[in-house]
Amino acid sequence: MILLKNCFALYPDPADPGCEPRSGVDVLIEENLISRIGKDLAPLKGGSGAGAVQIIDASRCVVVPGFVNTHHHFYQVLTRNVPAVQNAKLFTWLVYLYEVWKNIDEEAVSVSSQVAMGELAKTGCTCTTDHHYLYPRGFAADLMGLQFEAADRVGMRFAPTRGSMSLSKKDGGLPPDSVVQTEERILADSRRVIEQYHDPDPLAMRKVVLAPCSPFSVSKELMVETARLARSYGVRLHTHLAETQDEDAYCLRTHGKRPLKLMEEWEFIGEDVSYAHGIHFTDEELEVLRRSGTAVCHCPSSNMRLGSGIARVKEMLERKITVSLAVDGSASNDASDFLGEMRQALFLQRIHYGADAITVPQVFALATAGGARVLNFPRIGKIEQGWGADLALFDVHTLEYAGALSDPLAALLFAGINHQAAYTIINGRVVVQRGGLVGVDEAELTEKANRIAARIQKTG
Ligand SMILES: [Zn+2]
Repeated sequence: MILLKNCFALYPDPADPGCEPRSGVDVLIEENLISRIGKDLAPLKGGSGAGAVQIIDASRCVVVPGFVNTHHHFYQVLTRNVPAVQNAKLFTWLVYLYEVWKNIDEEAVSVSSQVAMGELAKTGCTCTTDHHYLYPRGFAADLMGLQFEAADRVGMRFAPTRGSMSLSKKDGGLPPDSVVQTEERILADSRRVIEQYHDPDPLAMRKVVLAPCSPFSVSKELMVETARLARSYGVRLHTHLAETQDEDAYCLRTHGKRPLKLMEEWEFIGEDVSYAHGIHFTDEELEVLRRSGTAVCHCPSSNMRLGSGIARVKEMLERKITVSLAVDGSASNDASDFLGEMRQALFLQRIHYGADAITVPQVFALATAGGARVLNFPRIGKIEQGWGADLALFDVHTLEYAGALSDPLAALLFAGINHQAAYTIINGRVVVQRGGLVGVDEAELTEKANRIAARIQKTG
């Protein structure tokens, strides 16, 4: 049981522009649910373990629903900021890094997953996916199992994708042969991970998504079969789409069609589908997204970092297309700073559309309700009685927020320099406490990650 006492500014639904902050209220969390919100709450005995109440003083904090990250590649933590591709665009960047990434092993997957989820949790994220599509030859372990173990260690609500690549250089794709798999193997393992790990409960800690990497790294048959498999189990679908003009050119050259047209023909579209990036859509294509209910996972830092372009988020929101937010892989951001990503989302739209392009509540909508919808968690994204106890608390009574408290919610995006949550609570458990991960030795994890990074980059 957790009792947040005397919140400085509680926003039950920051995505709602009319949401007024509640000040001086308490929030009681029982088991994994928000059980009461009100003044002067005292923990009720609530069954057996009445003694174990953790009281958190929230009198300095803005309290918001935890954020949902909808696109990432955790293993890329080990290749952040590599000098050789600091200034490269996507296809060049990929071709270089595949040669390094083919060296990842079990330890690399486990450690990078903990680092990425740790950084996400420390910046207010309470639920994330991961898009792992790289299966080096000789990697025999249960990769998704290692990632779920890492999620348990951090305490993250986790909906990883079973990613895939089947086309290598010899088929006209970008990756080396040693990191792609046969389509039979991909489909068999996709079925296995769904049956072994997917929990359809609205407040599950483990869900599974299927995610062929992109239209330029798998075949039509694999996209179609993956979509059918996912739908037979009721799990979500995800892929990269419309990220660069090179991708448009590749699809036109290879298939004679633009990427979204291919997705329509390959059944990879609909309310159960999300596309990472979604930058280069035409007006007609935005209409296709709207009609089909397909979602876009916006990755502003990555798009800026790789010079890929500016997604038309303002226009998507006007058309009521579902948009979520994501930090993207750690080699193209190169941070997993979720609150920082929200600030980037706010500003990037303004470069293109002007200062009134997108508001603070709209950015919170991407980060909360939008993400919850993409990953299919219908009871997270609000602080409401009976909803999942996923919350982020930011201490705004610090120097970097001084003078910004006329609008405490907007202060989180307009001001602040370190984006660190004071507390992050996931499924009723304190995962970040006074800015640090609970139960994870951050110094040791950091050293391990640096050691592995040096090793795999050297052998690249
Ligand atoms: Zn990506």
